[in-house]
Amino acid sequence: MTGHGGPPVRLLFLTGDTGGGHRSAATAVAQAIDQASPGRFAIFICDPLRGPGASHWLRWVTGLYGPAIRIWPWLWGVLWRACDSPRSLRWLRATLMSPIYRSVAAAVTAWRPAVIVSFHPLTAEPAVRVRDRGATFIPVITVITDLFTAHQSWRDAAVDRVIVPSAAIARQCAQDGMPDGHYVETGLPVGPEFSRTPATAPERQALRRSLGLRGRFLIVVTGGGEGSGGIYRRTVAILKQVEDVDVAVICGRNHRLRQRLTRLAERAGGRLSVHGFVSNMADWLRCADIVVGKAGPGTIAEATCCAAPLVLTAYLPGQEEGNAEFVVQAGAGSHAPKLRDLAGEIARLRDDPAALAVMRAASARMGRPRAAADIAGLVTAAADDATGRSAWPALAPSHSRSGALTGPAPLPDPAPAAVPGRLPVSLGG
Ligand code: UDP
Repeated sequence: MTGHGGPPVRLLFLTGDTGGGHRSAATAVAQAIDQASPGRFAIFICDPLRGPGASHWLRWVTGLYGPAIRIWPWLWGVLWRACDSPRSLRWLRATLMSPIYRSVAAAVTAWRPAVIVSFHPLTAEPAVRVRDRGATFIPVITVITDLFTAHQSWRDAAVDRVIVPSAAIARQCAQDGMPDGHYVETGLPVGPEFSRTPATAPERQALRRSLGLRGRFLIVVTGGGEGSGGIYRRTVAILKQVEDVDVAVICGRNHRLRQRLTRLAERAGGRLSVHGFVSNMADWLRCADIVVGKAGPGTIAEATCCAAPLVLTAYLPGQEEGNAEFVVQAGAGSHAPKLRDLAGEIARLRDDPAALAVMRAASARMGRPRAAADIAGLVTAAADDATGRSAWPALAPSHSRSGALTGPAPLPDPAPAAVPGRLPVSLGG
């Protein structure tokens, strides 16, 4: 442990690049750990689903997520519901998802972490199975990154602690029969760049100019990492039906959307700017007058930390159900699924600065900028417990909770050769 008489303590963060929210959450917690304890921990953020070490088959299957949620969100909803039961999950894990076990085993064998943290619904159960096969006890912690509705796959793995983003999901855990203390509500983790004090009106103006925009009323449109949620037609509707606003669209990984909108921008008289997958999302959310888009949990958590008013237009059936209502009830935004309503709502807010200010204040109240730091504290306490530096009795192996373990029969032998995911993110280690 650097500065403590030994090498950095290794932590393994399992995530998956289906959408952008899982990786953002993992990165936020990694940054918070490094900020709190510089050099003490070496963190490997690994994507066993889509990373370089994942099998071609697994990459192909999980690669369908983006097109599926963009083109057939209803079909995605059907699949989501179909798998939301112990029986169908067992089937899914034994068939399509079985290669994940090998990827996770390889990562654990190669990295030998003190703690495993799972930020994806498909990685916690494999982590528990790999851990249970080993000689040493490795705490496994789940960080749920859905906001209001958590799929069974988030909740059924026999992990040692579940970190939840909202009271709604805490209630779901209680209904599952999880004992108090097994789940902890912290909020959804966001990076430090979202956690600064929200920008004032003059600061928003200055930030807009630094991003190459004119200083006018700005609508930022986003559809998560995959750029989903009918962004093209919604952008057209805003440009056509609402005057005196500029629009910046973040297309994420949706290259086709970006191409189409770039052509549209040529005819939009400077009102439209188009961007691909950006690494400075905080700048866009901090300078927006209104953020428009699908009700992605990561985007909602980040936008509220930036005090941005939200107009939510779509949600993914299943996992994002309830998110829009959650925001509307908090007063932090509105829900406008129809094109006509969207344009009307934006025009209303543009013309009513007092209503917009009330929404902005409610958005700020809803934000939970400390979530990443709180989760970092829990993870490092678990690491200290596991490495014998201090006791964290609450973490004593609830992993043996009976009946919670599901999954395909034999676990493949760990293959130490290829570690899936990206290169280790060694934060200060
Ligand atoms: N994101 C980003 N760059 C982009 C688009 C999205 O960094 O160009 C991030 C965004 O800041 C958020 C995440 O991707 O952290 C999207 O998460 P959300 O839960 O809203 O949607 P998902 O993509 O997971 O469906």
